[in-house]
Amino acid sequence: MIETSIEVPVAVNEPVRLYAPGSADRAELERTLAAMAASPIEVPAYIGGHDVSAGERVAMRSPHRHDLVLGHWHSGDASQVDDAIAAAMKAAPAWAATPWNARAAIFLKAAELLATKHRATLNAATMLGQSKTAHQAEIDAACELVDFWRFNVGYLPKILADQPISSPGLWNLLDHRPLEGFVLAVTPFNFTAIAGNLPTAPALMGNVVVWKPSATAMYSAHFILEILKEAGLPPGVINMVLGDPGALVDRALASPHLAGVHFTGSTSVFRSLWAKVGAGVGEGRYRTYPRLVGETGGKDFVFAHPSADVDALAVGLVRGAYEYQGQKCSAASRAYVPASLWPRLRARMMDVLPAITVGDVSELSHFMGAVIDRRAYERVTGAVKSALADAGCEVLHHGYDDRDGYFIRPTLVRVDDPSHRLMRDELFGPVLAVHVYDDARYDEALARCGDDSEYALTGAFWARDRAAITHALAALRQGAGNFYINDKPTGAVVGQQPFGGARASGTNDKAGSALNLLRWVSPRTVKETFVPPTGWRYPSMG
Ligand code: NAD
Repeated sequence: MIETSIEVPVAVNEPVRLYAPGSADRAELERTLAAMAASPIEVPAYIGGHDVSAGERVAMRSPHRHDLVLGHWHSGDASQVDDAIAAAMKAAPAWAATPWNARAAIFLKAAELLATKHRATLNAATMLGQSKTAHQAEIDAACELVDFWRFNVGYLPKILADQPISSPGLWNLLDHRPLEGFVLAVTPFNFTAIAGNLPTAPALMGNVVVWKPSATAMYSAHFILEILKEAGLPPGVINMVLGDPGALVDRALASPHLAGVHFTGSTSVFRSLWAKVGAGVGEGRYRTYPRLVGETGGKDFVFAHPSADVDALAVGLVRGAYEYQGQKCSAASRAYVPASLWPRLRARMMDVLPAITVGDVSELSHFMGAVIDRRAYERVTGAVKSALADAGCEVLHHGYDDRDGYFIRPTLVRVDDPSHRLMRDELFGPVLAVHVYDDARYDEALARCGDDSEYALTGAFWARDRAAITHALAALRQGAGNFYINDKPTGAVVGQQPFGGARASGTNDKAGSALNLLRWVSPRTVKETFVPPTGWRYPSMG
């Protein structure tokens, strides 16, 4: 169907609820947390509109409470992917022919259901299953996902309305077709909103999807799917497969119908997917060149100029580095601080860090919960132990304990060498490495910050000196896809700071923007000539 443009409701960002003591929102959230913790669920795959319970049942445990089993997900084998692709391909013609405003209405309804009736449920699922605090769950599972759904709908008619000019006697138009085939969405554990956005953004544009959620976020993925079903998503449009990630994804990449990959996760996994798709293209396996969209790792910087406001910088570092236990792709994990500011900054940070509480997020007073699983706990505590034994590191604050949950305290390490692996590798935990630079070698430190990293996702520059800000904007231009001035490098808001980075951080297709949606259409140009010529000779031939 060639679609026309009409108005859609104006998207505005979903207001963040505060959950202050005594508020009705807090009481509802606490009730929901208790009820969900007491009622384990089954999470089946969902294929062609049917729940598929097959294979081994795998327990979903709270990262902050080893004894709390939230339920079980059903781990199927790779044949499930064949079924999901078949169901998607069957649903494709009707979904592509569905008027865009009818598709959009489903996601607007999902946004409304999430903003109201199911808000506490998806927040509680994200708290219990992924160990986010109430605030972190609210800005992710509720607000960001509502925003993705509403804003994507807002971009859609603008994309459709972007049409070519027409000369007299003819009419040109662009028909924004969905891709020919299915889109594979592979989602990470750390943002419920991303898990909800990656399958739905291509679906909004008329595509059918096979969605493979993260094993450590199956619990919230289940509730996202329930909301989409309630909103009226037709069977087969989004199919959720559960099982061994490598086996499921490889099977999907083997299909000739693969038309796109919408991935968020680690750089190493995305590189391996790219290589496999590249090999498939080389073999002529696919009917079309699959679109590859991947937002991946980060080693996000905070650079302080000698004119920075130290008190604000300390808060930016604490929030930017330690919220959600440092498990944000955008988390501050390397900082460059001038020697002239370091003693004051260090004192300020050392006032704050011991006061931070880490614990069961169902107690809303905690600032931090647990890291996601044992693998993450071992990786991060291993790096802390190495730093403690490293003469080039001064570990200023740390702590860990896995008796009840995977708890790691906010960790602050001063490193001598700006190319130390704590300044270089993504650790994905609550560890901030600080390199103290000599004020006289400011330009060198700035260059290292911008050029040294394999990643280029987010970065923050702190200064009161306007000339320094102007200079840093140019000097660090390729160093981050999301650049913050006097702010923490986390917390991008849909519609306000379109998100994504370059280098090893991803394809920078800016989730939550029209740029991303454009990757999920393959425009057909249509030219209609109203009165075609009847003579074949050109006047110049006379
Ligand atoms: P991950 O790479 O371990 O997992 C991401 C997804 O890939 C999951 O669904 C997982 O099951 C799947 N997967 C894992 N191994 C696979 C394999 N061998 N083959 C195919 N699929 C496989 O990442 P994660 O731990 O879930 O998330 C953390 C990572 O995601 C960090 O590197 C973080 O920086 C990144 N991230 C980036 C952004 C961004 O916008 N740039 C946002 C969120 C997270």
